[in-house]
Amino acid sequence: MPKSDAVLRIAIPSPLYSSFDYLPPAGVSPNTLQPGMRLRLPFGRSQTVGILLETSFTPQIERGKLKPALELLDNEALLPAELMALLRWVSDYYHHPIGETFSTALPSALRQGEAALAKHRSLWRITNAGQEADTEALARRAKRQVDLLLRLRASHNGLTAEHLTELPRNWVDAMAALVKKGWAELEQIPALEYGNEQPEQGPELNAEQKQAVERIQQGLGMFSPFLLDGVTGSGKTEIYLRSIATTLDAGQQALVLVPEITLTPQLVERFKRRFNVPMAVLHSGLNDRERLNAWLLARSGDAKIIIGTRSAVFTPMLKPGMIIIDEEHDASFKQQSGLRYSARDLAIVRASKLDIPVILGSATPSLESLLNVEQGRYQHLSLPQRAGSAKPPRIDLMDVRHQQMEDQLSQPLQQLMQRHLDNGNQVLLFLNRRGFSPTLICHECGWVAHCRRCDTHMTLHLKKRHLRCHHCSSQRPVVQQCPDCGSPDLRPLGSGTERIETALSQHFPGVGLSRIDRDSTRNKGSLESILADINSGASRILIGTQMLAKGHHFPNVTLVGILDGDQGLFGVDFRAGERMAQLIIQVAGRAGRADKPGHVVIQTHHPDNPMLQLLCQQGYHAYAKAAQSERQLTALPPYSHMALLRAEASHSLPPENFLEQASQLAQQLGTNGVELYGPMPAVMEKRAGKYRYQLLLQAQTRAELHRLLGPWTSQLNKLPEARKVRWSLDVDPVDLI
Ligand code: ADP
Ligand code: ZN
Ligand code: ZN
Repeated sequence: MPKSDAVLRIAIPSPLYSSFDYLPPAGVSPNTLQPGMRLRLPFGRSQTVGILLETSFTPQIERGKLKPALELLDNEALLPAELMALLRWVSDYYHHPIGETFSTALPSALRQGEAALAKHRSLWRITNAGQEADTEALARRAKRQVDLLLRLRASHNGLTAEHLTELPRNWVDAMAALVKKGWAELEQIPALEYGNEQPEQGPELNAEQKQAVERIQQGLGMFSPFLLDGVTGSGKTEIYLRSIATTLDAGQQALVLVPEITLTPQLVERFKRRFNVPMAVLHSGLNDRERLNAWLLARSGDAKIIIGTRSAVFTPMLKPGMIIIDEEHDASFKQQSGLRYSARDLAIVRASKLDIPVILGSATPSLESLLNVEQGRYQHLSLPQRAGSAKPPRIDLMDVRHQQMEDQLSQPLQQLMQRHLDNGNQVLLFLNRRGFSPTLICHECGWVAHCRRCDTHMTLHLKKRHLRCHHCSSQRPVVQQCPDCGSPDLRPLGSGTERIETALSQHFPGVGLSRIDRDSTRNKGSLESILADINSGASRILIGTQMLAKGHHFPNVTLVGILDGDQGLFGVDFRAGERMAQLIIQVAGRAGRADKPGHVVIQTHHPDNPMLQLLCQQGYHAYAKAAQSERQLTALPPYSHMALLRAEASHSLPPENFLEQASQLAQQLGTNGVELYGPMPAVMEKRAGKYRYQLLLQAQTRAELHRLLGPWTSQLNKLPEARKVRWSLDVDPVDLI
């Protein structure tokens, strides 16, 4: 068959499940086209950018109707074959349209058709002549040149503008003069982050760490998944660093996924201190151009270490050698909109396709990962003890029944706090609820401030003097009178971090306070300055939400108070207990990290709760074992597999009807082994003005579930009610609400 008959099969971002066929652009020979290149295409009445999946000779539509692509945008494949294969797998597994899957994986600049050109920046190095040049003679006439020359001599890797920010702007002229004299040379280097010129050596590893590092080394060059199961402060990060070093020595790149980088500036700094290599840090603060740049420089192999959040799992690499997922239990690895993928699960799939090791690290591994260890799918690396001299904290339940509570603070807790403060230590209080109080209530008639768009109340933010809904972000000013009865006696109901902060300043006058939550850290640099206050000792009481639980190291915190230990006991989601246990242990892990012993106190109305007792007395693993048995008995994940079909609309009938039709469709197709539950309203039936319903599918095996999902999802759009709703499928949902 002549080559000119080739048809291009293309992934285009569109809710349709299929790929689209086009003819090659005028004047472009199909021979030059490779899967993974981008093309500009006519699409409906406008244009779009798509990715070439393959060339074919059998078009999906009548040949006469095929349109030519407008333009070829790349002269080489943007996505390596490995990533193309992964994305096809993702589209199949999550039953998500191929075009949208590809588009999720690409930086937005590339989606919009921008050129795939990485940015570089100037680097100046000393030359041999510059090393030997006589500075004495120059010193009187050109002091600035001499200063620069001396700095160039002192630097191993050369200097970029970033190193010289403290100099007056005209250093540029002095540098140009040095280049002209032949004493310095100018080079263009990839615009990345660079580590220390003289990297630090890590500490001597303890026996368990050594063993872990050795086992990982034995797994290099093949698919070897590890669960690095180590208590907080046990030296897991140290293991990542050693394993990355081996990977770099082998000329390969390492990809590190973390829950949220802006929360862990300390981690990135630690990497920079240890490695003298270019790194790409993909955090949420990057603009499109910077994100593109980091992506391209990972693809070209220039970035040796790539650190990023969830979406970084799709970063192309020239020589991928290892993937690390820190805090693997963290729910933020699951995307909750659009393509609802789990970056943790995909990291495993990608590592298996690449034949490389993947390390999942956590002090509180998910029940999924623990089961994978039990079933022999992951190797278990255990670090049961803290590294160095730090001792594990003691955890106690504090019965607050019948106690007089002042803003969630029991008397005994206040006394304990005072004692730790008197000893010159810091105290950390945890409450997973921001704002002043969960809502405002009328003391006369019981009216509460409800959100008009959601089935929930609005949170009172006193400092800003407004009521805000944490689900749809709508806000309104605090009312002075009850809208129902006109009474002015409106009172805050319950406490959030803002209220505790106010209460603490009264109970502990003159003691430095810091609050860490999404409100207090909204502005750029605010988290850094709060952390600085904590580290300098200016703040001695820290109050915060789960933001406090992640990765921080506060060596002088000796007391951790968990203000509401009951929060996870009555969650509607079957994972609520697991999440709370993980949070408690993670927060507890902030205490006594240096040589001072830590004490953790959990305020509860249910001191007899067997799960809480187990957690406190025997630790996370005992808790996890019990939670596993419970899940096994009730056939919940990880002992079964779920998919959730969600639908929403401005009225409640269409979503319910749509899901009813979807359920009937499933029955027609044959549900062999799949149980259907629903349709039922979501726990919060109305959110942001939309009525939300869901249909849950559950099966003993993945195979049974996916056998139905395939044909089913491809027909959902044809259901009569489909046009009236927005629907989405969530495979392996992590929250069911
Ligand atoms: P994790 O990641 O498990 O919380 P880290 O790797 O951050 O643990 O280690 C906790 C602290 O202990 C860090 O300050 C680290 O430098 C230190 N540390 C780690 N390993 C050792 C070791 N073998 N000897 C002494 N200190 C260590
Ligand atoms: Zn009232
Ligand atoms: Zn709302």
